[in-house]
Amino acid sequence: MPGEVSFDVLVIGSGASGLAAAVSAERAGARVAVATKGTLQANNSSKAQGGIQAAFGAEDSPEQHAEDVWRSSHETANRELVAVLTGEAPSAIHWLEELGVEFTRENGGYRLARCGGASQKRLLQVGDRTGHAITKGLREAWVAGSGTSFENAPLRSVEPTENGWRAECGEHTIDAGTVVLAAGGRCFAEAQARGELSTNHPNATGEVTRIAVDLGAEVRDLDALQYHPNGGAWPANMQGYSIPETTRAYGAVLLNADGEEFTDSLGPRDVVSQAIFDEVEKGKGVETPDGRPAVYLDTSRIARADAEVSLPYMLRRYRGAGVDPLAEKILTYPVLHYQNGGLVIDTDAETTLEGLYACGEIAGGTHGRNRMMGNSLLECVVFGRRAGRAAAGKAV
Ligand SMILES: Cc1cc2nc3c(=O)[nH]c(=O)nc-3n(C[C@H](O)[C@H](O)[C@H](O)COP(=O)(O)OP(=O)(O)OC[C@H]3O[C@@H](n4cnc5c(N)ncnc54)[C@H](O)[C@@H]3O)c2cc1C
Repeated sequence: MPGEVSFDVLVIGSGASGLAAAVSAERAGARVAVATKGTLQANNSSKAQGGIQAAFGAEDSPEQHAEDVWRSSHETANRELVAVLTGEAPSAIHWLEELGVEFTRENGGYRLARCGGASQKRLLQVGDRTGHAITKGLREAWVAGSGTSFENAPLRSVEPTENGWRAECGEHTIDAGTVVLAAGGRCFAEAQARGELSTNHPNATGEVTRIAVDLGAEVRDLDALQYHPNGGAWPANMQGYSIPETTRAYGAVLLNADGEEFTDSLGPRDVVSQAIFDEVEKGKGVETPDGRPAVYLDTSRIARADAEVSLPYMLRRYRGAGVDPLAEKILTYPVLHYQNGGLVIDTDAETTLEGLYACGEIAGGTHGRNRMMGNSLLECVVFGRRAGRAAAGKAV
């Protein structure tokens, strides 16, 4: 029912970061509401396939993980946030397991893959529906609690009050002691404006960042948008699909029109994307049947056993479109994928405005100007939990 309501903590957005914040705030004793633009299920987090990073390998450590983030960010990340991200990664994974997320295992441990820019195998997976599994676990925990969900209630404005904040969400006026902004990035809207393809959900439009900026919140690296090196280029119904980076972790390589490898297929994302742009620019790319630029991703080099365990959804999607990636090369080209920068936060995920928190893709600093794959879902869980706990602590 529309009208005025009051909570300790209001969370904006129902992706992995918002749900992690909401569950954590409630478990910290707060009365919590989630207001989200569409249904609880509508978000980018559910679309994530590849996996989530955490240093579980015998030769690995949170410090090594942090070094990889620092290097991949071209030394632009906030090292304090990175230390939190990688240090709390193992406990974030165990927390997700307590919520029912079952990571793929082998030989008595987690099945770990090496992702672009990583010095170790560190990527945990749930088949190739990792984001779906994580958001499902978080959503079930949230729905099982006593918090309130406002669906189809997009944030339109938020302003400070004597006791916290007042937000207009759809038809609802919601008062809260503290607010957690977890409304994701803006790559869907950005791609539309540029006339490009994007991997993103249509709700990724960025207006919540704008609302926070208008309030005076600081941002960083907002211009740094990330291309996913491997968007689907053909068949037409796979355009904008993000071919999981785990294809390359399990042996697929990028080839030009002459069948030559032209880059380290497991380099950092920005480097691999740029190499593809450059190869096409040099005239060494190929063209899709509808005239789009592309290069080959030779997925036929992936061992069938690896593909069956770690890429079943990708195989199903391509085979459904009439292409068997284990029998032939597929066509790929970079697509707009991720907002690297965002609202400036501290290690409790508080923005530069007191009582206003931000976590997940809407926040900046953790990845600097170039994110490694598998660190966004991790950021959602690590900083979502911190935001929820801190927002509850300040409000209750
Ligand atoms: C196809 C794809 C594959 C990916 N694969 C991986 C991967 O393998 N590993 C990895 O780590 N990362 C991956 N990512 C990135 C990662 O999934 C996202 O960056 C991350 O899940 C973002 O989570 P979030 O909670 O910040 O935002 P989202 O999941 O996007 O959720 C944002 C929420 O805010 C809501 N919202 C938006 N505007 C408003 C508003 N005005 N008012 C109220 N609510 C609003 C949305 O409806 C949504 O519920 C992938 C992303 C995509 C798109």
